[in-house]
Amino acid sequence: MEKIPGWKDKILFTPGPLTTSNTVKQAMLRDLGSRDIEFISTVKRIRGKLLKLGGVSEKGYEAILIQGSGTFGIESVISSTTPENGGWLVIANGAYGHRLAQIVKTLNFQCEILKYAEDQMPVPQDVADALDKNPDITNVGIVHCETSTGMFNPVEEIGILVKERQKTFFVDAMSSFGAVPIDIEKSKIDYLVSSANKCIEGVPGFSFIIANHNSLEKIKTFSCSSIVLDLYAQWQGLEKNGQFRFTPPTHSILAFAQAIKELIEEGGVEGRAVRYKENYETLIQGMETMGFKLYLPEEKRGYIITSFRYPEKSNFDFNTFCDSLNDKDIVIYPGKVSNADCFRIGNIGRIFKADVLNLLNAIKASVEELNISL
Ligand SMILES: *Cc1c(COP(=O)(O)O)cnc(C)c1O
Repeated sequence: MEKIPGWKDKILFTPGPLTTSNTVKQAMLRDLGSRDIEFISTVKRIRGKLLKLGGVSEKGYEAILIQGSGTFGIESVISSTTPENGGWLVIANGAYGHRLAQIVKTLNFQCEILKYAEDQMPVPQDVADALDKNPDITNVGIVHCETSTGMFNPVEEIGILVKERQKTFFVDAMSSFGAVPIDIEKSKIDYLVSSANKCIEGVPGFSFIIANHNSLEKIKTFSCSSIVLDLYAQWQGLEKNGQFRFTPPTHSILAFAQAIKELIEEGGVEGRAVRYKENYETLIQGMETMGFKLYLPEEKRGYIITSFRYPEKSNFDFNTFCDSLNDKDIVIYPGKVSNADCFRIGNIGRIFKADVLNLLNAIKASVEELNISL
């Protein structure tokens, strides 16, 4: 693709939005009307492919797209799937788990938080105990990849216990879906949310919900405090005429269709996992060799995003460090854990081992320029 002279994209080592391929960006260079037959069939195709990527069949599950960033999808599920007088158990071991709880509380639903330190993995038996103690709980929510630390939470073990107790199970798989295998059926997930601009490598504009069909039928009579985020109404709209109820992010959807094609060409979820794992291995090896310390011990780490501790000994200032990398066309992210000073580096997006090696060289140069002792 021809670029604007003198303009160059930085490489994003962040949790999203991410670096995307030129072909994904090119797919947006069209204006399609929201009622255009090609657009409607693209939406339909995307919905089918999302179910395939999730490993579930069109018979038992539905894929629903909704405008907005990932959090809009989460808020849509929470506001639409809580019965009258229902209550939530939210499992939180990081900022994104606490965000789920914040949404539940803002919507005025009962909310019990099963809270863990950010370097602790949730214990499935604790979830069972909390549910057995509080019969008012109807819904359980958890984050799959807690993007603040990079930990993968034990969704499957927890889901089985949740379903034995006949609660509705919601998983925020925003930063993992498409690159970390997750068995939706075996994990007894009723609602899973992810968004266009994470591991599928599309551009921002919408989120999507993979929902168990029977669970979705049950919320028909539930009241939702929002018009735009009403999940059942959004589903019905898409079913009725294939259209969004309100202006759809047409360009973002065209980009997404291309992104899914590229994901499938890469070997689907497993293929993408191989590349992200290679990025991760390359990153931590290089960082540890330089002397950086990781926040999580090895057995608790996922390969999506990695949290590094600020160097202890030195004059380390994150903003200066970040600016210095930015001058080298590299973007990293601040930390999001409360009990340690950290920064984060994402391994996801259209980045390859060569990009990670380039990042490591830039970090090495910045460490020298800024006289950071490790
Ligand atoms: C990115 C992310 C979100 C959604 O963030 P938005 O800024 O609303 O797109 C939610 N949960 C997790 C775990 C995430 O990684």
